[in-house]
Amino acid sequence: MKGPLTPTIPSGTTHLFRITEQLMPKVVSRSAVSSSTDAQPTASSAASLRVYYCICGEFILVIDKSLATLPRRKTDNAIIIRSQDSNTAKARVFKLNAVAEEPIILQRAGGHERQYRLHCPRCSLKIGYQTAPPPVKNAPFLYVLPGALTQMQGQLPTDAFDGENDT
Ligand SMILES: [Zn+2]
Repeated sequence: MKGPLTPTIPSGTTHLFRITEQLMPKVVSRSAVSSSTDAQPTASSAASLRVYYCICGEFILVIDKSLATLPRRKTDNAIIIRSQDSNTAKARVFKLNAVAEEPIILQRAGGHERQYRLHCPRCSLKIGYQTAPPPVKNAPFLYVLPGALTQMQGQLPTDAFDGENDT
């Protein structure tokens, strides 16, 4: 990159600079070791948390897996987040920031479905729903509506207008 470091040292910071200089070799050698032997990404939790925002910019969801990789409902294409452990599957780790609404009843092919919808606390955009009363995780699944959330604060998700006519 650049040549050897030749910082200008204002008077009074000489001592501080000397300490930094002494620390430098340690830091460099440690990172060199870890990049050669420890480069594999760990499966541990915190590093892989994903954060999602409403289109208005409000923080809505933090979750341990990318929404793009989760299964979808056939009925309405909503993203399925497992919120309770079952015999065969572990619940996802997530936290949702949303406001619950009064339930609505939808007609589905197999009968009726009660949806407790959730909306953004700031702009009231519908975020998703679950099929049991609040709190969140009181139902086996949380459903996130397609196009409701984005990982880039202040930007539309790529599927925000899916299913709408462009005329
Ligand atoms: Zn919003």
